[in-house]
Amino acid sequence: MSSYDCCPNCGHKPHGLTVAYMNIYKCEICKTKFCHECRGSNNGNRYPECGSERKSKIGEAYVK
Ligand SMILES: [Zn+2]
Ligand SMILES: [Zn+2]
Repeated sequence: MSSYDCCPNCGHKPHGLTVAYMNIYKCEICKTKFCHECRGSNNGNRYPECGSERKSKIGEAYVK
């Protein structure tokens, strides 16, 4: 599991007010990393470019 400063795809950062970290996922099809804030990701359930719901959690982004 890796740690990130922000989402590698959209650059979203966890806010820190309500959450201390957020999950970073990777699409199993195209290997793109994404988060729940990426446009069209359906709250992190799929990667919108592929429409694939095959993903795995690969790390977390922490509030600095
Ligand atoms: Zn994909
Ligand atoms: Zn994102």
